[in-house]
Amino acid sequence: MRKILVVMLTLSLLSPIPNSSAAKKLAPSEAKAGAPCLIKGLTAATLDGPVLCDKKWKLVTEKKDSVETRAYRIVLKEYLSNPEGALSLVIKLDPKTPSWGSRIKKGMEAGARLWGTSPVGSPTKFAYISADGEWIFKEAQADGFIDDNRKEEIFRNDCQAGWNGADDPTKSFWFFKFAETFCITNVGYFQVPAHEYTHYAQDALSQYLWGKTPRVPWLDEGLASYIGAALGPMSDMRNDLRSMWVGQMRRGVKNLDFFSKSEELVYKSPNWQDVYAQGAIANEALVALIGITGVKAIYTSLSKSGTTYDAAFIANTGIGVDSWTALLQGYVDSVKSYKPWSLEKLQDAYKAKKTT
Ligand SMILES: [Zn+2]
Repeated sequence: MRKILVVMLTLSLLSPIPNSSAAKKLAPSEAKAGAPCLIKGLTAATLDGPVLCDKKWKLVTEKKDSVETRAYRIVLKEYLSNPEGALSLVIKLDPKTPSWGSRIKKGMEAGARLWGTSPVGSPTKFAYISADGEWIFKEAQADGFIDDNRKEEIFRNDCQAGWNGADDPTKSFWFFKFAETFCITNVGYFQVPAHEYTHYAQDALSQYLWGKTPRVPWLDEGLASYIGAALGPMSDMRNDLRSMWVGQMRRGVKNLDFFSKSEELVYKSPNWQDVYAQGAIANEALVALIGITGVKAIYTSLSKSGTTYDAAFIANTGIGVDSWTALLQGYVDSVKSYKPWSLEKLQDAYKAKKTT
């Protein structure tokens, strides 16, 4: 009897322990290094670094970086190198806001940590989050940031968010108003908190001259979109927005060149939406080449009155806006056709521009 019992115990120790979660194949949106994955060759962003699917999600080594993974690696490193902690932000959340409100807050804080533009001691900035535009208006009015004149202009739509009043730093604030459930189901929502924070970073780095300098929309909007999406893993938002950007970009009709000029016809164009997806992919390449340090330097250069974006690009990167537009269009087209340039090819194309 005793012998049989021993054999049975041994057998039961050898048999696999059923564990459904261990076998679950994780989509990019929930990727974790070491966990099984579905489609070979897919990449994803995690807090441990960029990962690539090859039966399991495997961390990508720096040597094997694509443009996409190099850019994300740079963002993650910059984010982690800045301390988590007190920020000069007052984020007012309507107590009636559904759970998306706290995710917006977290995304704003992730943006502030990445850019480092809200340390304690810097100007305190306010944000208002609610499904109810009236609540936002009353709060912002009580804090002295808004009057009746601007009420209509900023609360027109059901789904609306923004860094508002960049032309006057004493009146500027963020608001996030998502009145309907469909507002929080798309790529526009998932990247919005760090996107809008990035607009403040652009404003603060340029010492509030950002709103007074003719802009380059593919840089301003594209960088905000790229960072908004790249900080997904840091802000409890989806981390697979890139594939949505690529899908949108393939449907777009206007090239980056159209979005390189700060003109009324660009901002009012029915194709204005194209700037977000295409600009995000263009800025992925820009970040892969010059880093967060490089883009920060461009905005900091604008803080010297009279400096144009072109001069800021030349001073910090060696080439001007037109050269960048052409270079990044090459990368954007390669992504659009599902044959993305390698990191090396992008780096070579940049070097070639610098020497011509
Ligand atoms: Zn924007």
